[in-house]
Order: sequence, then structure tokens, then C-alpha cells
Amino acid sequence: MKKLNFNPGPSALPAEVIKTAQESMFNYEDSGLSVVELSHRAPLYEDIHFQAMNRVRSLLEVPDDFEILFLQGGASLQFAMLPMNFLTPEKKGAYVLTGSWSEKAYQEAERVGSVYTIASSQDSEYRTIPEVDLSSCSEDTAYVHVTSNNTIFGTQWQQLPLKGNAPVFVDASSDIFSQEINWDNVDVVYAGAQKNAGPSGITVVIMKKSLMKDGNKDIPKILSYDTHAKGESLYHTPPTGSIYLLGLVMKWIEDNGGVKAMNVAANEKAALLYNVIDESNGFYVGHSDKDSRSLMNVTFRISDEVLEKKFIKEADEAGFIGIKGHRSVGGCRASIYNAVPKEHVETLATFMKEFQNNNQ
Ligand SMILES: *Cc1c(COP(=O)(O)O)cnc(C)c1O
Repeated sequence: MKKLNFNPGPSALPAEVIKTAQESMFNYEDSGLSVVELSHRAPLYEDIHFQAMNRVRSLLEVPDDFEILFLQGGASLQFAMLPMNFLTPEKKGAYVLTGSWSEKAYQEAERVGSVYTIASSQDSEYRTIPEVDLSSCSEDTAYVHVTSNNTIFGTQWQQLPLKGNAPVFVDASSDIFSQEINWDNVDVVYAGAQKNAGPSGITVVIMKKSLMKDGNKDIPKILSYDTHAKGESLYHTPPTGSIYLLGLVMKWIEDNGGVKAMNVAANEKAALLYNVIDESNGFYVGHSDKDSRSLMNVTFRISDEVLEKKFIKEADEAGFIGIKGHRSVGGCRASIYNAVPKEHVETLATFMKEFQNNNQ
């Protein structure tokens, strides 16, 4: 049976990417080797590596004074690596808490140095993106950490806050490449690839070069951004297969109109589901406040718990994958990242309407 993949991550990859990858598994570019057998020092791999990096730069219009790094350890390692590099005994990390991932980032930083919360929507069960004025950060703020899209709760900054004096670090794991980035307002953008940019095993970190030079020197070399920048993300063996797939996804985005086109599609796809929720007369209840809704993760509940279980079961039987919400929030969630075709979202919207008609 055909499956419609709404998994939160690892998530859907474009069908064209999977097809090309399949062919490269045997004889990549007539090398007689699989793409995953290439030495990371071989010219054929170097092409893959630097083309992927260049495509990240061109798709997001990354300025020359930012470095692009391909690292391992997921977004979660960044939660620890950022404070290890940039917290000093005199300075504090400021965190905006908008969901589980930002809490995790805060907790990791707390193990490294001093942190404080500059804004939080925890009191409203993370239904909303809080107001925050970054110009009000205290003088001793090393950086401000923001999560641009809250994968679990289904909220997203409609616009990132204006930068104050402190550098701004953004965890964009679940919405990178779905919208343009204003580089004047950020100093670091990082993302585990497995939501919107490729498979798991590779993390994209885009960092202002001037910041990197000032990073702490008394940490293990492998955890220093400077090491990876100097080594062009080839300081040690990179996850070559994951980078190859990430490169194919970058090319797919390019071939499909770039980040602007991804954003148009994301708006259209999200509207399909939010319209069903809004027109359901309370049958479906969205988790997030309307002005904080995510274009990537649509979270909702059915007020009757028995019906909610039935919905999840029938969705599964109909071939929809990944509709059950995260265990910490419950309910339902449809993750509609770049690679999820609009037709799949239309099919889900129709399924939701029919389920309501049949069950109320
Ligand atoms: C998935 C996710 C993470 C965790 O990513 P890992 O690569 O599993 O470490 C962190 N932040 C956000 C916003 C996420 O969606």
C-alpha cells in the first residue's frame, strides 16, 4: 500500500532524491564504487562535499563572512557545543523557551556555565511565541538562543526578533530551507538535517566567522568550531553518505524554485490543514495560537479522546504515517516539511473532513 509520510524526523525525502541515491549505491559516476565507498579524500567525494556546501550557501544566500560547517552529533550536540565554545565565566547565555527543544538547549548550557531565561511561553503550554525585546539583554549576555520552529508543539516565529547587542543563535532544525534568512539578525543558524534538509547523521551549522575566532580555546579540539572551519568539515571522516544525500536535497530545492518556492508551498500546504481545523466547529482543536502557528508541524487534538484514538488508528490504516502527536503533547501532528508533496497534504485534509462527517 502507498504510504503518505508525515513523520516528524527523520522525515520524507523527495522521491527523485531516493531514486538517484539508489542508482549511486552501485556504481557512482562510473567509479566502480558505491557512493558510500568513496574515500573522503577522493576528488569524487570532495566534489560532493563542496557542491553540497556551495548549494547551502546559494540557497540561503549566506554572506561571505559566515562559515558553513557539516558536523555530526545532531542538533543536540550543538546544545552543548555552543556554550562550550562561547560561554565564559563572566558571561551568561540567554534562552528563549518555546518548547521541549529549547528547554533541552537550556539544560545543556546550564551544565557548562551560567544561563538565564529571557522569555518563555511555558505557562501557556507552549501554545504561543512570546514577545521578546533583545535590546534589553543584560550587558554580560554571551548570546541569545532561539528555536525558530517548535517541532513538538507546532509553533513558529513568524519573524525572528531583531538583534540587540548580543549575538543570536538559532536552532532551525525543523524549518531551515523553508524560508529566507535575514543574516543581519542572526550569528549562528544550525539544523539537524533530518527534518527539512536530508537524512539523519549530519548537522548544518552556519556561523559568523568573527565569532568563531573568539571561541574558547581550552576545550577538546573536536568540539571547537574553529577546528572544523580550518579543516573545511574534513578534519575527521565526515558522514559521507549523509552529506551526499543532503547535497541531492539541496539540488532538488534548487530545481524546484529555491527557498522562496518552498515557502510558498509551505504556506499553501499548512493552510489546507489549518482550514480544516478552523472550519470544523471545534471538532478539531489546534494546539498553537493562530498567530504562532507553524508551517511545518500542524498539531491538533480531537476533544473526544475515544474519537482521537479512532482517528489515529484509521489514519494509520489509510496509509498515513507519523500522525500521532509527540508523547509530551499527545493528540495529533502532521509534519509537512519541504519534501512532503502537496497532494499528500490534500489527501490528509480530505481524510480529516470525511472523518469528521462520519463521526460527529
Ligand atoms: C529534532 C530537533 C532537535 C534534535 O535534533 P537531533 O539531531 O536529534 O539532535 C533539536 N531541535 C529541534 C528544533 C528539533 O526539531
